[in-house]
Amino acid sequence: MANVRVRFAPSPTGYVHVGNARTALFNWLFARHQGGAFVLRIEDTDVERSKEEYERQLLEDLRWFGLDWDEGPDKGGPFAPYRQSERLEVYARFAAQLVERGHAYYCFCSAEQLEAERAEALKAGRQPRYSGRCRKLAPEEAARRRTAGEPAATRLKIVASAFTWHDLVHGPTSFSSEVIGDPILVRSDGHPAYNYAVVIDDHLMEITHVIRGDDHISNTPRQLAVYRALGWEPPAFAHLSTILGADRTRLSKRHGATSLESFRGLGILPEALRNYLALLGWSPADGKTEILSPSELIEQFSLDRVIKSPAVFDAEKLHWLNRHYMKVALPSRRAELAAPFLVDAGYIAPADAEDAAVRTWLERVVDAVLKNLDHLSQIPAAARLIFEYDAAATAAGEETRHVVEDAGAREVLKAFVPKVLAETQLTYERFREIAKAVQKETGKKGKDLFHPIRVAVTGAVSGPELEKLIPIFEEGARLPLVRHVKGVAERLREFAPAAKLYL
Ligand code: GLU
Repeated sequence: MANVRVRFAPSPTGYVHVGNARTALFNWLFARHQGGAFVLRIEDTDVERSKEEYERQLLEDLRWFGLDWDEGPDKGGPFAPYRQSERLEVYARFAAQLVERGHAYYCFCSAEQLEAERAEALKAGRQPRYSGRCRKLAPEEAARRRTAGEPAATRLKIVASAFTWHDLVHGPTSFSSEVIGDPILVRSDGHPAYNYAVVIDDHLMEITHVIRGDDHISNTPRQLAVYRALGWEPPAFAHLSTILGADRTRLSKRHGATSLESFRGLGILPEALRNYLALLGWSPADGKTEILSPSELIEQFSLDRVIKSPAVFDAEKLHWLNRHYMKVALPSRRAELAAPFLVDAGYIAPADAEDAAVRTWLERVVDAVLKNLDHLSQIPAAARLIFEYDAAATAAGEETRHVVEDAGAREVLKAFVPKVLAETQLTYERFREIAKAVQKETGKKGKDLFHPIRVAVTGAVSGPELEKLIPIFEEGARLPLVRHVKGVAERLREFAPAAKLYL
């Protein structure tokens, strides 16, 4: 297919949620697969709800998500401007043309009149739709009132017929014109209605495929009516299914994180979210591969494998993919991504993360604690035993005090502590030798030997392997961190009196 052009057309009225992110992703995958263009258009004609800061955040979130666009408000392009608020003159021009040709008319009905009509219809159990009162006005009369300065909206004349299209996801779809009242094209304040602006822009921007959420299916006949009135060929439409939460209701904030920004805040890697959302309503031809790189997704993506039934958002599967991508990410990138979470927890200062030696150390920290974590924001909790060691709490704590109270454990620790304190710097090899010596001396081995040691050194009954933790404690103690990390000897020097080891 030559010259495929698709667009993502968000309204900057809030954060980008999962549904829109998936729409953007499917458009991007389709464009890249076809070697076509991916256009970003900002639909900011709802002046009250659109905010510049949302637009800025939106672009940043899309970039974080890994999407790039060929044309857009920040990049320009052959069909600029790409922000609807800068295209009002274009909408006015075509609206005037439609009135001139008798396809549209001026409507002077006040908001109160329209509201009363609506209320009446609802009361009578009818679907509210515009009565067509101003349609009957003579064009000269309407022109006169307009010139006299009376505010007027422009409405499209819907001509009785059916609106039918072959939806690339839903198949043949059709609506009768009976359910459609004459829609507003341009409001009396000069702002275009979505169903009108979207047609003007999609046509002028030479969009070939409109891929969007199926909440817009019922808008499509109104848009087809505009195409028809203008004598334009409509693009192909593909409406993506709704995304549901685990309880099968429409996914919303109630279900937890649903915006790109909140996933980023949780420390979900963009590649994991991208991979996950690609599988939400689409699957590769083999029907089973779940881990796909961006180039594999681009290569395999096609609209005919997009399903029309609602897709259920499965956070567990997203976490599974995130665990995978966290595992295979470069250690340096992982450290960089984890650092802000450790800063937020107060474990390191922003300046610490600038230091090359600290960064290398952070790579080891992340490597040690990453196992079984769903996302990076869980790192501070998992790394707590590195940054916080409280001997008194270890000796008295609910989970840990059994070590202090158990005679066998005390025997192990009594032998272990002085040996460690005699070292200037403890390597893991040296630690093993000491543990062997303690085993010989006390006759304890395995769990009886290592469990008390773990508790005394880490302050916790479980955690990463000591083989990883000991060098982390020892190296951390020597780094110029704003908040000091305690080395093994320092921990034990505090533990011995707290546990009254030698009394
Ligand atoms: N601004 C509309 C939205 O955010 C775009 C719909 C469309 O793609 O046509 O829902």
